[in-house]
Amino acid sequence: MTETVTNWAGNITYAAKELHRPHSLDALRTLVADSSKVRVLGSGHSFNEIAEPGPEGTLLSIAGLPPVIDVDTTARTVRVSGGVRYAELARVVHTHGLALPNMASLPHISVAGSVATGTHGSGVANGSLAAPVREVELVTADGDTVRIGRGDARFDGAVTSLGALGVVVALTLDLEPAFEVEQHVFTELPLAGLDLEAYETIAAAAYSVSLFTDWREPGFRQVWLKRRTDQPLPDFPWAAPATEKLHPVPGMPAVNCTEQFGVPGPWHERLPHFRAEFTPSSGAELQSEYLLPREHAVDVLHALDGIRATVAPVLQTCEIRTVAADQQWLSPAYGRDTVAVHFTWVEDTQAVLPVVRRVEEALDPFDARPHWGKVFTTPAPVLRGRYPRLADFRVLARALDPDGKFANPFVRTVLGD
Ligand SMILES: Cc1cc2nc3c(=O)[nH]c(=O)nc-3n(C[C@H](O)[C@H](O)[C@H](O)COP(=O)(O)OP(=O)(O)OC[C@H]3O[C@@H](n4cnc5c(N)ncnc54)[C@H](O)[C@@H]3O)c2cc1C
Repeated sequence: MTETVTNWAGNITYAAKELHRPHSLDALRTLVADSSKVRVLGSGHSFNEIAEPGPEGTLLSIAGLPPVIDVDTTARTVRVSGGVRYAELARVVHTHGLALPNMASLPHISVAGSVATGTHGSGVANGSLAAPVREVELVTADGDTVRIGRGDARFDGAVTSLGALGVVVALTLDLEPAFEVEQHVFTELPLAGLDLEAYETIAAAAYSVSLFTDWREPGFRQVWLKRRTDQPLPDFPWAAPATEKLHPVPGMPAVNCTEQFGVPGPWHERLPHFRAEFTPSSGAELQSEYLLPREHAVDVLHALDGIRATVAPVLQTCEIRTVAADQQWLSPAYGRDTVAVHFTWVEDTQAVLPVVRRVEEALDPFDARPHWGKVFTTPAPVLRGRYPRLADFRVLARALDPDGKFANPFVRTVLGD
């Protein structure tokens, strides 16, 4: 490639022979039909080689296609082009008095790229960002359009699809009436004495709940409750209210974060932790995340506490969230209510990788499924054993993409092809 293209974190430089940014759907179709290997680059917020087509392949950005955000207020749906980012989508949806059920920690990410990897926010009753998707529109290997909607036997493989089925040019999402959220931050929640019942109570104390720790000491440095104002204000005796605005990464400026101290605001300005107009998170980092059955939440936390001394030196922050079970075959929350344990590491691959392996060993007894878009070293055969519908996905991928045009090394390894 004449230009150097990296992911957001800068730890991956794509080896693709070319990057194309088609400006029309027709140009995109022709490009796909004429290419032998294609991967789409969304907003590039993944931390691994999931988007890498390989040195002979074409990297395709759809950010140059005319953005579409068509809200149907009667049906309460929105049809959005795949390259649109959540910040833009949410602003438009909100002006129609409607809302998405949940958002990730940042609104900077593209819709198609996010749902492709099972990206999620938090909340015991909230599914991943793929949950409201009711239809995907794909440009497949020969340049044709395929629409797969809820009710289609292929649908459960078609949303969280790792980009392996085709170019997702548009998605239709269910919406709900707009709601307000207020954010309350607490500090120092002990791990000692926390049993599963107490964890479940804490995780369900508000619409979306996150615990943060640096694992330098046992327990959690911060608890973020995002309460819908149409739901009761919880009594929260577990930790003390914060006395100043906080960033989840110790030492980072809270001005980057969405409003705290219980100031109510629109859903899309409170559900993410980070404001759209600022750099999210620390900006100099790697990330890993593991999704595990929620019934093991407290055992998982104790397992991590047991390797605190290994984890803390390369950790910026660790976040514990919940995700409701779903039916997407490749979703890390497939078939089980989930606790998600996220790590924002320092920006040093060599120092971080052995610790990632150590975390994976500690979490092995709990059937951990790594986030598809983050750093992991779980061996592929182990990973495959954790996805009961993987064989169905393989069949779907072969049907839509018989020559494996969209199957890069990452996907081939996962699928075992
Ligand atoms: C600061 C930061 C915070 C984060 N916070 C969260 C969080 O709160 N929760 C969470 O779960 N994750 C989080 N992530 C991870 C992030 O959400 C995922 O990596 C997500 O995939 C990013 O979307 P993207 O568009 O940048 O995807 P990319 O990295 O660009 O692509 C991801 C995959 O999607 C495919 N893809 C992208 N667009 C298309 C398309 N149009 N058609 C077909 N395939 C496509 C790509 O080929 C690739 O396989 C965070 C990442 C960062 C950097």
